[in-house]
Amino acid sequence: MLHGDSISDDGVMAEGDTVFATAVRLHEALAGRILTRTDFRVPRFATADLSGQVVREVVPRGKHILVRTDGEVSVHSHLGMDGAWGLYEPGDRWRGRSLEVRGVLETERRIAVGHRLRRLDVLRTSAEPAVLGHLGPDVLGPDWDAAEVTRRLIASSGREVGDALIDQSVMAGPGNVYRSEVCFLAGIDPRLVVTDLADPRGLVDLMKSLMERNRGGGRRVTTDDPRRGYELWVYGRRGRPCRRCGSPIRSFMQGDGAGRVAYVCPRCQPAVGAALRAGG
Ligand SMILES: [Zn+2]
Repeated sequence: MLHGDSISDDGVMAEGDTVFATAVRLHEALAGRILTRTDFRVPRFATADLSGQVVREVVPRGKHILVRTDGEVSVHSHLGMDGAWGLYEPGDRWRGRSLEVRGVLETERRIAVGHRLRRLDVLRTSAEPAVLGHLGPDVLGPDWDAAEVTRRLIASSGREVGDALIDQSVMAGPGNVYRSEVCFLAGIDPRLVVTDLADPRGLVDLMKSLMERNRGGGRRVTTDDPRRGYELWVYGRRGRPCRRCGSPIRSFMQGDGAGRVAYVCPRCQPAVGAALRAGG
């Protein structure tokens, strides 16, 4: 069954690169500053108040963001499909609907506002592993370990490659856009099972290099052509001609949940089996 492109084709879905760039911006705005007001619009943390604490640092972890304070408290957030942290100055009008605001971290000069966050927690910094311990090495983090990620990928042997690539316990960061683009560049159909991969390490290295190129944020580019409409090989391009061979790009659902659309060029990414023969 083919699904409409509208499910996830906004191109701004938060993946590890977006999260990384967001954390850098938040760190620049908040680190070393005293929180003058906090507001957590999540029932469980509605009474939490971090005012008076100093923001120590803001760090990305896969698709998660941690704002750590000198009071050994961490504000953990996950952007989900379309969440975002906006930065404002006092008196600015905030973007979006006020109902969608989940968290506010205010300092004298800058105000960070979390809109549409999928998740927001306030916890002891020492408790972070309980929330994030399941994550594999972070593609853009200091803990990156290509050999370990390859081991985890191979261990998910019976699964389809497209599923395994966005499993955050294999590696933290990649989402829908990257799995389609990486599979295209590797010339494999994402429905191939991991066991049949000729070069799992090559796929892991490809993911790393593509995400590194985009860690600065902004529009995601995998093609070397940053012009609008030319940035991606297959993602979001159903029915349009492949940039290499001209065949119409196809899409299908892969994995659970909304927005799990995958894209392939049927010619450049031979169906299961053919890739192996072609690759020897
Ligand atoms: Zn093609």
